[in-house]
Amino acid sequence: MFRLSRYMNALANKVQNVEPRKNAKREAAALAGGTPTGPVVIWNLIRRCNLTCKHCYSVSADIDFPGELSTTEVSSVITDLRQFGVPVLILSGGEPLMRKDIFEISHLAKSMGFYVGLSTNGTLITDETADRIAEVGYDYVGVSIDGIEETHDDFRQKKGSFKEAMNGIRLCRDLGIKVGMRFTPTQYNSHELPLILELMETESVDKLYVSHLNYSGRGNRNRERDVVHQTSRWVMDELFKAAWSDAMGERRREYVTGNNDADGVYLLHWVAEHYPEHLAYMQGVLRAWGGNSSGVNIANIDNLGNVHPDTFWWNYNLGNVKERAFSDIWTDTSDSLMAGLKMQTRPLRGRCRVCPELAVCGGNTRVRAWQMTGDPWWADPACYLSDEELGIDASSYAEDVPVPGELETRVVRWAS
Ligand code: SF4
Repeated sequence: MFRLSRYMNALANKVQNVEPRKNAKREAAALAGGTPTGPVVIWNLIRRCNLTCKHCYSVSADIDFPGELSTTEVSSVITDLRQFGVPVLILSGGEPLMRKDIFEISHLAKSMGFYVGLSTNGTLITDETADRIAEVGYDYVGVSIDGIEETHDDFRQKKGSFKEAMNGIRLCRDLGIKVGMRFTPTQYNSHELPLILELMETESVDKLYVSHLNYSGRGNRNRERDVVHQTSRWVMDELFKAAWSDAMGERRREYVTGNNDADGVYLLHWVAEHYPEHLAYMQGVLRAWGGNSSGVNIANIDNLGNVHPDTFWWNYNLGNVKERAFSDIWTDTSDSLMAGLKMQTRPLRGRCRVCPELAVCGGNTRVRAWQMTGDPWWADPACYLSDEELGIDASSYAEDVPVPGELETRVVRWAS
């Protein structure tokens, strides 16, 4: 996760020569992502969903799926997560509000001191549900918005779902709940990002999470002309404008991106162009962040209790919390993927191996390389910066080849 507005705010302080505050040490730790002892856990508690979205990675449906964790099992896992030092739980699905015990689980997590987020499609947030959400005191409620009305309804494959989701956002906002939008740009909806930014303004929504779509393009060839790469750059340019305008003004909205850690490197290019005198400062800050943290600071548990290095490693299973404690599964580096992910410098091949910006982006999202080449350590095909921009001499990795087959597919998630 790349907290763009935090970095823009820090840069704005430098540019405006704002004195560091007394708690500067804490702020520096926050900029680097803090130092929790366990990972942030994104927990897909239920596969069932009232929608059938086109881009759903969980292939959900409005039926019950057998084998999901019971309330008692969830409670016992939560206790283990707390003891392990997990700081954050993001409760997701499917549609988490379809779990009858969602508020019971959420109250328990809050009472144990977790930061608890709820990731929902928003359509089930009625007056009554909003009151119950407020009662829990979620630290954040994220609602997926894929575009303005027609586009959103088309993606969600349900007419009226945009209105319902926006109603849910308004109800939460009016109750003082921190609520934001989650937008996944694709070639069909990315052009609506400026409208989403306008919507944030008119609806007084203070957070936008932009999740880059998992990439399945043409790899390293034609990087500069690849439409997905071009879209990613354009999306980031728009977000830089919005975040910088806020950072230099009065509003303090949050802009966060996910699923493409090259965003940090791209920000450095923006800083180099606009504020070269602060480039060294921003390099230090972003190296402390370190980029991709799948398998280290981000974890995923699915509806059946399978543990994954993050939500996109959906068909690579590290173990099941019904059989082994999460803490045990997470620290077991006999798994070759986890051993590699947890290395200080990951055992990369191809252009990521020789990239001068590796310390910033951490080699980006490994699952894409694995999906496209069978080699989890191959260069991330969704990196949208060219060799020239990165200062990479193509001959320095010309002899590298992907080494597929190192990881077997352990299980297909959502299998029932
Ligand atoms: S080449 Fe690899 S390490 Fe370098 S910025 Fe791109 S994804 Fe990150």
